[in-house]
Amino acid sequence: MKLNLDNTALQWQEKARRFAEDELIPCEIEAEMNGGRLPAEVSKRHKMMAIELGFSSMDVPREHGGLQLRTVDQVAVWEQLGHVTNALCWCFSEPHQWMFEACSEQQLQRYVLPLMSGERKECYAITEAESGSDVVINTTAELTDEGYLVNGEKWFVTSANLADYLFLQAKLTSGPHAGSDAMFFVDQNSAGIEQSRVPLFSHTFDHHHPELRFNNVLVPVANRIGDEGDGMSFSHSWFRRERLMIAARDCGAAARLIEEATAWAKQREVDGGKLIDKQLVQAMLADSVTELWAARLITFEAAEAHDRGEDVKSLHARCSIAKLYASEAAYRIADRAVQIFGGRGYMRENCAERFSREIRVDRIWEGASEVQRLVIARALAKRGLDGM
Ligand SMILES: Cc1cc2nc3c(=O)[nH]c(=O)nc-3n(C[C@H](O)[C@H](O)[C@H](O)COP(=O)(O)OP(=O)(O)OC[C@H]3O[C@@H](n4cnc5c(N)ncnc54)[C@H](O)[C@@H]3O)c2cc1C
Repeated sequence: MKLNLDNTALQWQEKARRFAEDELIPCEIEAEMNGGRLPAEVSKRHKMMAIELGFSSMDVPREHGGLQLRTVDQVAVWEQLGHVTNALCWCFSEPHQWMFEACSEQQLQRYVLPLMSGERKECYAITEAESGSDVVINTTAELTDEGYLVNGEKWFVTSANLADYLFLQAKLTSGPHAGSDAMFFVDQNSAGIEQSRVPLFSHTFDHHHPELRFNNVLVPVANRIGDEGDGMSFSHSWFRRERLMIAARDCGAAARLIEEATAWAKQREVDGGKLIDKQLVQAMLADSVTELWAARLITFEAAEAHDRGEDVKSLHARCSIAKLYASEAAYRIADRAVQIFGGRGYMRENCAERFSREIRVDRIWEGASEVQRLVIARALAKRGLDGM
C-alpha cells in the first residue's frame, strides 16, 4: 500500500523505518517485561541515534540549526515510529515550531534548543483534577516582587520522571489579566514541587504520568512564555501538530498490526485449512486494510495541506479529522489483530496485545474523540464542507 510520496519524504520514511525495525522493535519485549525500562546504555544509544538521524530537529527553523522539514516528511517519520510499542520511539525530544514563535531568545537558548541536542527534556503540565476537556485551570500564578508564586496540582504529567523542566499552565491572580491563563517554563528542581502520586496506567511505558503538587514555587518572570494574557494562544498550533502526529503513529501501528496478523493467519492451520482462507478472518483483514488506507490518505493529505499553506482554521479541523479517524480505526484494527492471533493475541509478548492497550489512550489525550467531533462539527457549521 504505497502513497504517492516524493523522494524526500520516501528517504525520511526509510530512515525512520530502519531505525524502528533494527533498533527499537527488537527491544519491545524486554521493555514490556521490565516496566517499560531498557538498560541505560541502550536507551542512551537510541537517543543518540535518533538525534544523529535528525529526528530531534525536524521541526526546528534553519536559522536555529534545525532541518525545518515539511510536515509531510515529519508525518512520514512519525508514521514509521508508530510501528513501535512501549513508547520506545519517544527516545528523543523535539522542539516545535510554535516554540520559536512564542519564546524569547533567552528561553530558546535555555530551554528549547537543548531539547534538540538531548541535553534537556520537557514535560507538559496542563491537566488538573477538575480540568481536562474543559481547560478551567485552578493552579494559580501570583506576581510578587521576586517572580510568580505558583500553587496548585497537575495531573497526568507525562514523562515527568525523565524530564528536567515543565511547560506549566496557570491562572494569573492579579494585574490587568487576572483570571486569564499564562504558560511558564518551570525547572523540576525548583523548591516546592512535590510528587503526590504516581498512578499505574494500562500501558507499560518508562514514561510515567505522575501528579505533581506546587507549593509556593517561585518562577522567574523571565520564564513566562509570551505576555500576560497570551495564555494558551499557542496551544492551537501545538494541538494541530500533536493531533496530526498521533494520527501518523496510529497509521504506523495499524500497518504493523495488519502485517503481523496476516503473517500469522497465513501460517496458522485451523479446521483443516489456513486461517487466511477463512472468510470471516479475511473480512477482518479486509476491513482493517480499508480503514488503514483511509486513515493514511486523511493524515498525509492533512500534512500536505499544511505544506501548501492552507487556511489555519481549515487545518485545525483537518487535524481533528485525522486524529479522530486514525485513532478509532487503529483501535478497531488492534482488536481484530488480537482476535486473529487468538489466545496468543492476549499474551503480553504479542504486539497486538500491547497495541490494544497502548492505542486506547489516543482516543482520550490531546482532546478526546468527542472533543474532536465538536471541533469538526463547529468548523462545518461555520465554514461549510468546502470551507473545511
Ligand atoms: C496516559 C495519559 C497521559 C496524559 N498526559 C498528559 C500530559 O502530559 N499533560 C497534560 O496536561 N495532560 C495529560 N493527559 C490528560 C489528557 O489530556 C486528558 O485526560 C484529556 O484531555 C481528557 O480529560 P479528562 O481525562 O479530564 O476527561 P474529561 O474532561 O472528564 O472527559 C471525560 C470524557 O467525557 C467525554 N467528553 C468530554 N467533553 C465532552 C463534550 N464536550 N461532549 C461530550 N462528551 C465529552 C469524553 O468521552 C471524555 O473522554 C494525559 C492523560 C492520560 C490518560
